[in-house]
Amino acid sequence: MADQDFPAGELMRGKRGLVMGVANSNSIAWAIARQLAVQGAELAFTYQGEALERRARPLIESIGADIFVECDVTNDTTMDNTFATLKDKWGHIDFLVHAIAFAGKDQLVGSFVENTTREGFKSALDISAYSFVDAARRASEIMNDGGAMVTLTYLGSERVVPNYNVMGVAKAALEACTRYIAADLGPRGIRVNAISAGPVRTLAAAGIGSARHIFKFNKAASALQDNTDPMGVAGAALYLLSDLGLSCTGETHHVDGGFHAIGMPREEPLGEPMN
Ligand code: NAD
Repeated sequence: MADQDFPAGELMRGKRGLVMGVANSNSIAWAIARQLAVQGAELAFTYQGEALERRARPLIESIGADIFVECDVTNDTTMDNTFATLKDKWGHIDFLVHAIAFAGKDQLVGSFVENTTREGFKSALDISAYSFVDAARRASEIMNDGGAMVTLTYLGSERVVPNYNVMGVAKAALEACTRYIAADLGPRGIRVNAISAGPVRTLAAAGIGSARHIFKFNKAASALQDNTDPMGVAGAALYLLSDLGLSCTGETHHVDGGFHAIGMPREEPLGEPMN
């Protein structure tokens, strides 16, 4: 399904929002953005730096978006500029997509207890969790009441996944942040949710040691016996960001082929049956 859009509709007609985290056509943020556009949303985007701009610009232009702002979430000046640009061009927004994470490659391999450094820990939590708090606060200042926000997380926050290490800790923090932000913004009718996506082949996923094993194991052990389709993640984002998601907030919604629901995989797909 990955290359096919859902049927066009009006679910997001009249709504404007910011998408943070499109690096290339494989990005989960891009799958989400495309389906938001198909439903009539007007979109603005951020990009992290020149190298990523080159890949992302043609995508952004292909859906007719013209607000495309450089933003490194560790740099307050670029964050200020991003939200000032939105305020200047649009006045208000209706939704935010936060699909940003980073940990140094040296932090995403081997023993968590041995390899996690103070700097690696701080940077992973800053970029992958605090950036959502910061973006949510800034977005809420220009967000219409009744707006919505979505961030992306992974099961490594709840259970140990080899090599995911400090990113699992950052995702646990991100999910907790989601609940606290949801409580703070709830009185304004702003809903804040996280989607816990199963493994998807992206630039970020390539940075994690043993990615191949993770994909293979997920496919074999998930309820659907398949890898996660980014379109499923986009569909969930559409639900959570549109009025379909009314009354849903503070939630971490799994879109992972049911992998999270399995206590023990059946023996057949994983190979040798045990005696
Ligand atoms: P991706 O590489 O396409 O996107 C990651 C984005 O983070 C990039 O656009 C990158 O520019 C941005 N980013 C990193 N550091 C930044 C910084 N300092 N400032 C601004 N932007 C920065 O990969 P993706 O897999 O689409 O990741 C999107 C989100 O989905 C991440 O939060 C990731 O953890 C999450 N996620 C991914 C998977 C997966 O298997 N790919 C599964 C579950 C959750």
